[in-house]
Amino acid sequence: MTLSSTASADASISERFAAVRASIETAAHAVGRDPASVTLVAVSKTQEPVAIDAALATGQRIFGENRVQEAQGRWTPRLGDLPGLQLRLIGPLQTNKAADAVALFDVIETLDRPKLARALAEAIQRTGRDPSVLIQVNTGAEPQKAGVLMADLSGLLTLARNVLGLRVEGLMAIPPVDEPAAPHFQRLRRLAADEGLSVLSMGMSSDYAAAIAEGATHVRVGSALFGERKAWQGPL
Ligand SMILES: *Cc1c(COP(=O)(O)O)cnc(C)c1O
Repeated sequence: MTLSSTASADASISERFAAVRASIETAAHAVGRDPASVTLVAVSKTQEPVAIDAALATGQRIFGENRVQEAQGRWTPRLGDLPGLQLRLIGPLQTNKAADAVALFDVIETLDRPKLARALAEAIQRTGRDPSVLIQVNTGAEPQKAGVLMADLSGLLTLARNVLGLRVEGLMAIPPVDEPAAPHFQRLRRLAADEGLSVLSMGMSSDYAAAIAEGATHVRVGSALFGERKAWQGPL
């Protein structure tokens, strides 16, 4: 990559971050919310180091990743230099990677089954690290999608929080791509209120304004910040 193309990648990423932050503010104000009550999670999966550098240069410190190994490769070399960095796992987690996830991530957003809750609790006990946890809810009951079914949320929450002692702070969802998202956001908000949970991770590049209108505390935004993703090309 030439110096000039690096510089222009920087410029467009910083412009995109500024635009997304501004529209988060607009969306919050539109429903009478304090913009500071909405946290921008920059989804850095598949991004090259130059793009990460550009994001960090804007002051961004909260990032979402959907694969444990890829995130280790991207972030482990940077951990020592970045006080305040917060890494959030937003992709499905296999139980055999639970220990690696606990070692790297500050927040695990994708707890969705008892076996994973037990694996996380065991890794937390063993390592002394204590990431907080969100439960992913499959609000559209899509068979191919991760997430606990709405009917099973209470049971999983009781196990995770009361029996295993995980720090469950809220809920996360990815609405079906082929349906309006707002009803799913409303559903997630109601579930969280019923369970006394305060964190709502919902909304992506295409629908974060709608999610903010429905109470999102964390929006997970990738392509609107970094540009369109290239196809996954294996570990970075
Ligand atoms: C990739 C991803 C996002 C970001 O998607 P964009 O449409 O690029 O904003 C958000 N949430 C999850 C779970 C993802 O995997």
